[in-house]
Amino acid sequence: MDYNSIHQQRITAVRQKLSEWEVEAVLITSPTNRRWLSGFTGSNGQLLITADQALIATDFRYFTQAANEAADFTLFKHQRTLADTQALLQQAAVARVGVEAQHVTLAQMDDLNQVDDVSWVSLPTTLEPMRMVKTAVEVETIQKAAVITDAVMAQVPRLAQIGMSEAEVAWQLEKAMRQAGAGALAFDVIVASGPNSGLPHHHPGSRRLQAGDALIVDMGAQVDGYKSDLTRSFFIGEKATAHYFELYHLVLKAHTAVFQQAKPGMRLKKVDSLARDIIHGAGHAEHFGHGLGHGLGLDIHEDPLLSVRAPEGATLEVGTVVTIEPGCYIPNWGGIRIEDLALVTADGLISLSHCPKQPNILDMTGF
Ligand code: ZN
Ligand code: ZN
Repeated sequence: MDYNSIHQQRITAVRQKLSEWEVEAVLITSPTNRRWLSGFTGSNGQLLITADQALIATDFRYFTQAANEAADFTLFKHQRTLADTQALLQQAAVARVGVEAQHVTLAQMDDLNQVDDVSWVSLPTTLEPMRMVKTAVEVETIQKAAVITDAVMAQVPRLAQIGMSEAEVAWQLEKAMRQAGAGALAFDVIVASGPNSGLPHHHPGSRRLQAGDALIVDMGAQVDGYKSDLTRSFFIGEKATAHYFELYHLVLKAHTAVFQQAKPGMRLKKVDSLARDIIHGAGHAEHFGHGLGHGLGLDIHEDPLLSVRAPEGATLEVGTVVTIEPGCYIPNWGGIRIEDLALVTADGLISLSHCPKQPNILDMTGF
């Protein structure tokens, strides 16, 4: 199967949705939906899919790139004017067109509403459900990003040293990921030390690493647009405290339970509860305030959401890639999170992350 044919298959899948959406065409503007459907990686462009046309509208900077990357689409040269948008819709000869409610801004919608003879239909989701189950090529690409992330995480004990600021450690990790072949970062590296590790998404700052700190590092490389996501927790010092070990093993137990028990067809809420029940049972209900995990691909957060907030009937599907990331965060003390990537197979979860998960003691006294 060549690379273009996958896009042709996706265009066909979108066409099959038009009647369900009760539209004659759909306008795709979100960067990752645009890339998934067409292959186009530029920063500006609109895809218009009708029953018999697939158009890509972009500006002068991308005419050649769009022709090369989005070979299954007909190029519409757009100068970013309202007249061009009008002409695009006229060329497609459609009167009722879906827009991506989650991605179109009010300002963009004001512009679209000025186009004559078109009524717009707000679609809460468009391609997102189709993107959930990954192709073999997508899984391979995510795996490449995961391999880079694993290798750089293994360098944390060498790169992170007492006296360095969180921001310095984050920069060393960012450089190492780029040097290891990451095209970009999947998201800003999280380095959270001491009490900051009690904040699940702390932004690395000026706090310096010191003995006795809990340390959380959460990062991901990106390859061909596909993301990875990995968290490891460390203790800085010769010997972790009993309290740290106790919490670490609790989180690891919750993490392991999910890998052992999650199966395709299981309700997403149930998958979340495999970990949550263990952490709650140990008296830490209020210390695990985020979801168990999330789907990932071209976006760092995709469907499915493994959470108490997951839709009631939604189940775990074969071919999805999800993170499993239970955590325990104690205010003013610190936290622990262990996150791996997993591929859902007919037999259960297969880890795509291979970085060790034993308690990581950063004994820096030897440095
Ligand atoms: Zn993460
Ligand atoms: Zn994550």
